[in-house]
Amino acid sequence: SERTLILIKPDGVERRIVGEVISRIERKGLEIVAMDLRTLDRETAGQHYAEHEGKPFYPDLVDFITSGPLVAIVAEGENAVAAWRQLAGATDPVKAAPGSIRADFATVMNRNIVHGSDSPENGIREAKIFFPDL
Ligand code: ATP
Repeated sequence: SERTLILIKPDGVERRIVGEVISRIERKGLEIVAMDLRTLDRETAGQHYAEHEGKPFYPDLVDFITSGPLVAIVAEGENAVAAWRQLAGATDPVKAAPGSIRADFATVMNRNIVHGSDSPENGIREAKIFFPDL
């Protein structure tokens, strides 16, 4: 089976929808194998978002993701990567499928509540950044 790194970003924590997101993960049938509330330092944020370094939105992205506590979760299951991306919805909330987390709780791309790995390989890579001992 696969692993995916899920983040409930600082906007999700601030908006008090941590329980709602965790409920959706559980209802989908994914297994939570690690979970932690923490505030990222800029170095860890840079590792996580390395592919976006140099893009115009990168400084704001790092400022935002380090701005307060987030919840990092590793979820495991068959098709965990695609299953979570379906629950999260498209990156841009106005294009996200109705009923997805981003469609239900967000309006703009740079405050889109959650993150999910985009491939099984990245799931493993990103899980290691947050939980090296897992
Ligand atoms: P995430 O990685 O958070 O799940 P994603 O894989 O759907 O999102 P990426 O392309 O990896 O999207 O972008 C990472 C994050 O950077 C997005 O979730 C969004 O918050 C932000 N982002 C991406 N593109 C833009 C953009 N054009 N303008 C502002 N923010 C952006």
